[in-house]
Amino acid sequence: MKQTTTLKEHAMLIDGKWVPARSGALREIRDPGDGSLLASVPEAGREDAEAAIDAARAAFDQGPWRKTTAQDRGKLLLRVAEGIRAEAKKLAELETRNCGKPLAEAEFDVADAANCFEFYGGLATKIHGETMQVPANSLSFVVREPIGVCGQIIPWNFPLLMAAWKLSPALAAGNTVVLKPSELTPLTALELGRIAAAAGVPAGVVNIVTGPGPGAGSALAESPKVDKVAFTGGTVTGRKVMTAAAGSLKKISLELGGKNPNIVFADADLEAAVDGALFGAFANQGEVCSAGSRLLVERSLHRRLVEGMLKKVPRIKLGHGLEPGVKMGPLISAPHRDKVEAYVKIGVKEGAKLLCGGKRPAGRAFAKGNFLEPTIFDEVKPSMRIARDEIFGPVLAVIPFDTEEEAVRVANDTEYGLAAAVWTKDVTRAVRVVARLRAGITWVNTYHPTFNELPWGGYKASGIGRELGLYGIEEYLETKQVNINLDEAPLGWY
Ligand code: NDP
Repeated sequence: MKQTTTLKEHAMLIDGKWVPARSGALREIRDPGDGSLLASVPEAGREDAEAAIDAARAAFDQGPWRKTTAQDRGKLLLRVAEGIRAEAKKLAELETRNCGKPLAEAEFDVADAANCFEFYGGLATKIHGETMQVPANSLSFVVREPIGVCGQIIPWNFPLLMAAWKLSPALAAGNTVVLKPSELTPLTALELGRIAAAAGVPAGVVNIVTGPGPGAGSALAESPKVDKVAFTGGTVTGRKVMTAAAGSLKKISLELGGKNPNIVFADADLEAAVDGALFGAFANQGEVCSAGSRLLVERSLHRRLVEGMLKKVPRIKLGHGLEPGVKMGPLISAPHRDKVEAYVKIGVKEGAKLLCGGKRPAGRAFAKGNFLEPTIFDEVKPSMRIARDEIFGPVLAVIPFDTEEEAVRVANDTEYGLAAAVWTKDVTRAVRVVARLRAGITWVNTYHPTFNELPWGGYKASGIGRELGLYGIEEYLETKQVNINLDEAPLGWY
C-alpha cells in the first residue's frame, strides 16, 4: 500500500518551523497491520521539548497571541475545522495506517476532530466573567484568563481525536501549547500542526514534539515554565505525570484508564444488548479507555446473551484497517499484543471459561500485523485479574449476577470510575442504577456514543478534571478577581 503522508519528513513543529531533533535521532513509524515503514520522525529529547516550551512561553508572554481577540481565535479554530474536513480522506487513511483502527472508525474520528474544533471555535467568544455585589464601595468582578503554556501528552489509540480534544479548548481559551503525541502514532498530529499553521496559528502557539514519554513527555510535566499539563493515557503513567507536575505545582488534568461495567438486566432488548456488548468491548480493538470490558449479565439472560454474542463474533472481520469490511484491526504494537495475550493466559489460569478467541488469527494476511482474535471469557469472578486490570485489548470478561444490588456492587468494585452502561426497559431502574454508579460517563441502552457538547472524564483513579463541553474549557482558564475602589477618601487605617 502506498504511503500517503505529505509531511516534510523528519520534522516536528517548534516555533513555527519544521525542525529535526537536536540529536538528529529519528524514529521509524510503522503500520501495525503489516509492519511497513510509514515515515521517520524526529526522536525528540528533553532539549527539544525545552525549546518548544521556550517557544510557547515567548508566544504567550511576548507574542501577538495574547492580543488576538476571542473572535479571531474562534475564526481560526473554524478554519482548522475546515482544513481537517478538506483533508478528511487522507487523514483517515493515515490514521488507520498508523494506529490500526478500521477505516470507518478513523473516518468517524476525523469528522469528530473537525467538530471539536468547530465547537470550541464557537465557544471562544462565549468565555465570560461576572460582576459581584460586595460589602464595600467597590466595583468587583471576575475575569477569566488563559492559564499560559500548556503541555499536552496524548496516547496512541485516538491520535488525531485526542490532539483535537487537547488543542481546541486550550487555543479557544488563549493558551499556547506544546503537544506530545505518542511515540508510536505522531503522524496525524503532525498533519494537524500543518493544518493549524496553514489556518494562521502564529509561530510558537502550537508546538508539536515527537518523542518518547520519559524524556520529551516528562520534560513537559516537570518544567516550571509550563503552567498546566493535560494528559491522556494509562493510570500508571498518569501517576508519574502528576508526581512530576507536583514539583512546580502546575495545574493538571488527567484522563486515565477504566475497567468499565456494561450491565445488562434480564428485561433488556436482547438483540440491542448483544450488539452493545460487542461494540462496547471490541470497537477500536478494545483499545479504548471507556471500553465495556466487564459485561455484567443478569443470570436469567446470561445464556441467551452469550449465545447471541458468539453467533455474531464471526462477523467481526479481522484485517488491515484499510481493507473493505474489516471491523477489527491489529493491536498497536507487538509488545502490547504480548501484554494482552499474557492476560488471556492469566484468565485461563484463574479458571475463567474461554469462549472464543485468545489467539492470533492464522493465515498469511495476518503474519506481519499485531492481530489478536476477539476474546470472550465467561464465568469470570469479580476478583480475577481479568476483571480488575485494564487490559486495553479485545478481551471481554462476562460476569453473571443475580440481583440489582449485586450488579451495582460489582460494577463499583474497581479502582476506576470512567464509564458504565445499563441495559433495561425499566426507566426507573435505569435512573436508579445510573445514580449509584461511580463513573463520569454513563449510558442507558447504548454504549460508546460521545458528544463534544458533554463532559468527558472519570471518577476515582480514572482521572482528574473533564474534557469537552463547557467543562472542558474550564480546565484551560484561570480566574481572576478585580476590585476597583470607588471611595475617593484615603483608607485612614493608620
Ligand atoms: P502511556 O500512558 O504510557 O502513554 C500515554 C502518553 O504518555 C504517551 O504519549 C507516552 O509517550 C506518554 N508518557 C509515557 N511515559 C511518560 C512519562 N514518564 N512522562 C510523561 N509522559 C509519558 O500508555 P502506553 O502506551 O504505555 O500504554 C500503557 C497502558 O496504558 C495501556 O496498556 C493501557 O492500559 C493504558 N492506556 C490508556 C489509555 C487511555 O486512553 N486511558 C491510552 C493509552 C494507554 P510515548 O508513548 O511516546 O512514550
